[in-house]
Amino acid sequence: MQTIAHWVDGKSFAGTSEATSPVTNPATGQVSGTLTLADAADARVAVDAAVAAFPSWRDASLTRRTQVLFRFRELLNERKHELAAIITAEHGKVLPDALGEVTRGLEVVEFACGIPHLLKGGFTENASTRVDVFSVRQPLGPVAIISPFNFPAMVPMWFFPVAIAAGNTVVLKPSEKDPSAALWLARLWTEAGLPDGVFNVVQGDKVAVDELLDNPGIRAVSFVGSTPIARYVYQRGTATGKRVQALGGAKNHMVVLPDADLGLAADAAVNAGFGSAGERCMAISVVVAVGNIADDLVAAINQRAATIKTGDGTRESDMGPLVTRAHRDKVAGYIAAGESEGATVVLDGRSVQPDGAQDGFWLGPTLLDHVDPSMSVYTDEIFGPVLAVVRVETYDDALALINDNPYGNGTAIFTNDGGAARRFQNEVEVGMVGINVPIPVPMAYYSFGGWKASLFGDSHAHGTDGVHFFTRTKAITARWLDPSHGGLNLGFPQNS
Ligand code: NAD
Repeated sequence: MQTIAHWVDGKSFAGTSEATSPVTNPATGQVSGTLTLADAADARVAVDAAVAAFPSWRDASLTRRTQVLFRFRELLNERKHELAAIITAEHGKVLPDALGEVTRGLEVVEFACGIPHLLKGGFTENASTRVDVFSVRQPLGPVAIISPFNFPAMVPMWFFPVAIAAGNTVVLKPSEKDPSAALWLARLWTEAGLPDGVFNVVQGDKVAVDELLDNPGIRAVSFVGSTPIARYVYQRGTATGKRVQALGGAKNHMVVLPDADLGLAADAAVNAGFGSAGERCMAISVVVAVGNIADDLVAAINQRAATIKTGDGTRESDMGPLVTRAHRDKVAGYIAAGESEGATVVLDGRSVQPDGAQDGFWLGPTLLDHVDPSMSVYTDEIFGPVLAVVRVETYDDALALINDNPYGNGTAIFTNDGGAARRFQNEVEVGMVGINVPIPVPMAYYSFGGWKASLFGDSHAHGTDGVHFFTRTKAITARWLDPSHGGLNLGFPQNS
């Protein structure tokens, strides 16, 4: 049984806390490791390392910083299959999906390799007579990243490549459910030549998070997780003067208009509803069938969903297990609640026959029709392979349903009507919108983030927002002495 520890100052760090928690392989139900949970003192050691490493990393030239980033990119690309295997072993998602998450993280590394261009400020010559004004972007200092279980590599990589490229140092606190990917990435940074202390990993739970939120050495926090914790992190972090971006939960609707290609829409609903067993913040969890297409659409989705092979992610499966037994049981409980509240269970994942070990945390694809917005399967984020179909009469009904929902992470519309699509992109109150695209995760050079209860703070992840989040600007007004002195003038500076 392996012990999974912290990573501080370029090496493994055991800490002094004796608290631990088990890490399981969701496909077998077996405990695969014992995770060391930091106490506040252990977390402080990691913060101190990040504080100590900051001055010289901040002053490292852009050439030097990008050399390390390019090397990290090459190593990650060469060895991404190793990382994918670690993700599958602790998260459960199928190997090709794990590889997909690494690839999307790699895109952010590639974006961050262009940091010299992204950090360029402005320069104005002769703003006033012989006075120049210019702006620079500087790093914040040590920053904390607190990540969820569902993307143990990609979500941290939404943030740390940009943070490090911009000259900050990092303390990453991964999810306690799948903590090993973060350590693998930490070792890779060391191999890539990143100076010790620039990237640290502290393993733990709320105790570690609270220390990162309160410690004055941490200047900014990027959090991703469920909405209640995101709200808490935002409030506590900003209360101690930190810059915080806290990305929360989701309930993503996919609207299908009567003129849509139903085959395309059904494929999309199945891919986006059941990929990664629905444990994606951009998963589609609600299909909104508009008008008289509902029966045909449900039949098309059901026909496709019934062919999904649920099983061990290292085998030829389409969909893996859920992350823990407790989560599996919670999701199964939602199916039972939906059934008793009057939804029609078209496809029941509780009776799945998986290709995997008996003790795995299995739940097959589930399709619920005639879901009413008052039911808990609609109101709550389920985060499992459960697709709810809500039937509405008109486009306006569909739009109102989405805009009344407290979450605003992602949404999609399926239609062949450009005018309807254009109205939707304009009117819907959601941060990321797909048009005939079910999971509209923006490329690294755009920014990722939701609206409403799906994000607390002002900045989205990566892209320009990411660069702005991890830097602060300074505007400098300069006059170099020349023979003409202006004399005393107590008035407010004005240009001349
Ligand atoms: P979670 O909120 O349980 O945990 C997220 C992080 O917070 C973990 O590192 C965890 O250790 C820590 N944490 C948990 N309880 C805490 C507490 N009481 N105080 C302080 N820290 C605490 O989320 P999860 O179950 O790991 O991940 C799934 C959730 O993340 C879903 O709600 C999903 O929608 C969301 N998510 C959102 C996005 C997005 O971009 N908006 C992306 C991925 C996941």
